[in-house]
Amino acid sequence: MITLALSKGRIFDETLPLLAAAGIPVDASIGASRKLILPTGDPGLRLIIVRASDVPTYVQYGAADLGVAGKDVLLEHGGEGLYQPVDLGIARCRMCVAAPAGFDYANAVRRGARLRIATKYVQVAREHFAAKGVHVDLIKLYGSMELAPLVGLADAIVDLVSTGSTLRANNLVEVEEIMRISSRLIVNQASLKTKSGTLEPLVAAIGRAAEGAR
Ligand code: ATP
Ligand code: MG
Repeated sequence: MITLALSKGRIFDETLPLLAAAGIPVDASIGASRKLILPTGDPGLRLIIVRASDVPTYVQYGAADLGVAGKDVLLEHGGEGLYQPVDLGIARCRMCVAAPAGFDYANAVRRGARLRIATKYVQVAREHFAAKGVHVDLIKLYGSMELAPLVGLADAIVDLVSTGSTLRANNLVEVEEIMRISSRLIVNQASLKTKSGTLEPLVAAIGRAAEGAR
């Protein structure tokens, strides 16, 4: 049995068409189920539903053979024990620095000011500001980062943006793009050896489906 770890929401919704194109139909109504282990049209493949940031952990320890995780999540996790053979090109967004419309971020950076940055992505943020030579105090949050600058917790945030509507709704502006983000297929390194006969063709088929969907 092959186990594929997915998170509910955009990754689940955008992975199902790729599985279908790879010859693995999944009953879409299954997304509404509260079950955390779901069958697919292939009796040898099942899905498990986990939190987005937990997908690499399940795959790293071999509780899932495969998973789909955002680059953001993979960078925070570190990628230990994982192959990342295919960029699926789904759940696209960008990681960026955002600040209140009235805050002159560029000037603060030029002055060498010490900035308070709230984010869920402390590893990426630390590397980004270190590479720019900007001194920051990082404040770890688990969600609703947009609130932090509005109530004086931080000068700016590092967050994912796709349309920018959440930033606009909170009077924040994107001041710097850090990187483009999309989701990748990840594979447990030991599984790829012990189950190569089934995993290699499956990874190749999903890779072709992603290529075809571009
Ligand atoms: P949770 O919402 O459970 O706290 P999460 O925000 O990490 O966790 P999702 O919102 O399902 O989970 O996001 C899953 C992945 O989709 C993220 O890791 C990221 O790669 C991508 N993503 C997040 N926000 C956006 C967005 N606004 N637009 C496009 N892709 C996004
Ligand atoms: Mg989310």
